[in-house]
Amino acid sequence: MSILPIPFAKPFIVGKELFYIAQAVINGSISGDGQFTRRCQAWLETELHCKKVLLTQSCTAALEMSAILADVGPGDEVIMPSFTFVSTANAFVLRGATPVFVDIRPDTLNLDESLVEAAITGRTKAIVAVHYAGQPCAMQALEALCKKYNIKLIEDAAQAILAFDESRALGTIGDLGCLSFHETKNIISGEGGALLINNPELIERAEIIWHKGTNRKAFFQGQVDKYTWVDIGSSFLPSELTAAFLFAQLEQAKRINSNRRALYEKYMQLLQPLADAGHLVLPYVRDGHRSIGHIFYVLCKNEIERKNLIHYLTKQGINAVFHYVPLHNSPAGMRLGRAHGDLNVTIDVSMRLLRLPMFNEMNHDQVRFVCHHVTHFFQNIALYS
Ligand SMILES: *Cc1c(COP(=O)(O)O)cnc(C)c1O
Repeated sequence: MSILPIPFAKPFIVGKELFYIAQAVINGSISGDGQFTRRCQAWLETELHCKKVLLTQSCTAALEMSAILADVGPGDEVIMPSFTFVSTANAFVLRGATPVFVDIRPDTLNLDESLVEAAITGRTKAIVAVHYAGQPCAMQALEALCKKYNIKLIEDAAQAILAFDESRALGTIGDLGCLSFHETKNIISGEGGALLINNPELIERAEIIWHKGTNRKAFFQGQVDKYTWVDIGSSFLPSELTAAFLFAQLEQAKRINSNRRALYEKYMQLLQPLADAGHLVLPYVRDGHRSIGHIFYVLCKNEIERKNLIHYLTKQGINAVFHYVPLHNSPAGMRLGRAHGDLNVTIDVSMRLLRLPMFNEMNHDQVRFVCHHVTHFFQNIALYS
């Protein structure tokens, strides 16, 4: 079997996805909040040790629910990194709040906790911790700040399913956590996500918002005799077709993550000589933290070198891609947000970071092929610059 071309990412099925979708149809109802939705939620609650999980149409939708639950409105500020996906910011902007962008750490590429306190004002309502590539943010420091200033902590754990910070699953540490099951993530359902509600005070309202602002849940449980409009809400819950697909993936989630971890470790091992020779920087490895192999990235010396490497790899049939264009100096970010400080690390990393192919069905020969060509590029850099 040919190992080429090597895509950057690729959707996959691992088990009973299609069988469960057929079951959902046979069950007689494929709208949301059915049997498969409940099975997915129960699985996540058990495996992540989370008080309450609600499936959503996407991580974006979970972030939008978080923004409602954090009660942010016009004039309020929400601290977040600029090195993140647009949904992190959009969710709060949709409520009229202002994102305040803080720089990231050069090692973990997560929010630099030492800069956060100075960005807090009387209007700050929440901090959003984005766990880039499943690497944990400095949660203890962020938790302490949220407690001190009485603000909400929200985790964008889109890339971090089943990643842990010591013994706590990412997404279960803040008041709220958001997961993604988009087809580019580790565990997929096409589009999909989940809201993890860790603060028990927010559970009841979350269920109302999830049910389009109605007390439908209390009605079905016989707690109220009329089902009516009680709060704002929207169409956040996914259909049973999505949940059925997702449940099959969750059943295999640990195997998927350990499979990806093995690919990640192979990359680390094969590219270590280039790192030792000073050609590139490998992802930060924190003591005792095991990667879930979501993203494998390297940092090139500069933007031109990255461009040349992408070009060279493309010619070999390898699709490598860069990542976030910073939000703080994007057209919408400048209009709708505010930068705290100069965000030099964000700007620097966004120009140098390159993600190498990583997908569930990738094999070790493909990793070796990619590493062989990355090595060839750096050993013959004069030819390609
Ligand atoms: C993928 C991603 C999202 C958005 O997830 P969707 O499920 O596509 O809405 C948000 N934040 C981060 C950090 C992501 O990586």
